[in-house]
Amino acid sequence: MTERERPMGPLPPGSTIGILGGGQLGRMLSLAAARLGLKCHIYDPAPAPPAAQVAAAHTAASYDDAEALLQFAWSVDAVTFEFENVPASTGAALAANAPVRPGPQAFAIAQDRVEEKAFLNGIGIGTAPWASVETETDLAAALAKTGAPGVLKTRRFGYDGKGQSRISDAGDLARAWEEIGGASAILEGFVAFQDEISVIAARGLDGQVVAYDPGRNEHRDGILHRTTVPAPVPRALTQQAVLMAGQILNALDYVGVIGVEFFCVGRDLLVNEIAPRVHNSGHWTQDACLIDQFEQHIRAVAGWPLGDGSRHSDAVMENLIGAEAEDWLRLSGEGQALHLYGKKEARAGRKMGHVTRLSPRG
Ligand code: AMP
Repeated sequence: MTERERPMGPLPPGSTIGILGGGQLGRMLSLAAARLGLKCHIYDPAPAPPAAQVAAAHTAASYDDAEALLQFAWSVDAVTFEFENVPASTGAALAANAPVRPGPQAFAIAQDRVEEKAFLNGIGIGTAPWASVETETDLAAALAKTGAPGVLKTRRFGYDGKGQSRISDAGDLARAWEEIGGASAILEGFVAFQDEISVIAARGLDGQVVAYDPGRNEHRDGILHRTTVPAPVPRALTQQAVLMAGQILNALDYVGVIGVEFFCVGRDLLVNEIAPRVHNSGHWTQDACLIDQFEQHIRAVAGWPLGDGSRHSDAVMENLIGAEAEDWLRLSGEGQALHLYGKKEARAGRKMGHVTRLSPRG
């Protein structure tokens, strides 16, 4: 295969979008693309990932297979990602051979908790107090800066609360360092938040920004359990959260959907983290909005105008983790929308699906 012609303007129906990663997010992106007459080509090392069941093509190759990445880039009209921990060399190899949206800057920031906090603080957005920790000897000074209690987190490759250890006082530092594997880390002061909320927002190729109504998120064992929309928090906070999400999108010159997680502390908002992709706390948009987060992302990546993301109903989305999905028959009943990801094995802690319940917009 050789490099394909790349037309100017929005990708017409029939075009192919390449997605790195074939989990449930890639699957739901593929389904949304299909609705617009676009095809998806999944790149994922697994032989039969969930997204491949519903996509037009699948390349099963490792993320450092230069030849496979080149063939993939040439076979698609634009590339996007379902996860943020894409190796920088993989992103660069793709970007040299295809339009890649969002671009590498967003990944460099979202992959590294220190870069992320520095970026956010640099544009005037508050975060938990933090200090970078390179070696065990940095820990005491870091704790003096952030104050106790705190959370020690690996700088890179953390998700769903993994690679984190709580610290009550200086006596916990050595244990926490060992627990996270002694890797480059960030120490964060523990935030006594009242609520956690998130904003799912999108920015088009032309700079247009749209945001969904913020939801309140509840976690169990570090994994998102429930998102409630609208978030039952003061309106001033949700408005502020949407403005901050827009500010982040513009500062990154971003194209696509982003998820921004916030801590609500009194009248203040602190950003916990940003996810440069569609986000679990935005799954409710599938059933409660005209255009959901997946289609919005596909539209942005394909250079289409963004759609109407207004919400017609109130919604509560709950994840189905591990064996919870075995209850699929009951969960497919009246008044709820069941989404299953086509995963064979229901391992503990694995996201198997979600269910969304709607009520009239309040
Ligand atoms: P993370 O993987 O960084 O999003 O952390 C997972 C969850 O741990 C968050 O959604 C919070 O509930 C909690 N958490 C993380 N960092 C902090 C912090 N600095 N203060 C309080 N809670 C935190």
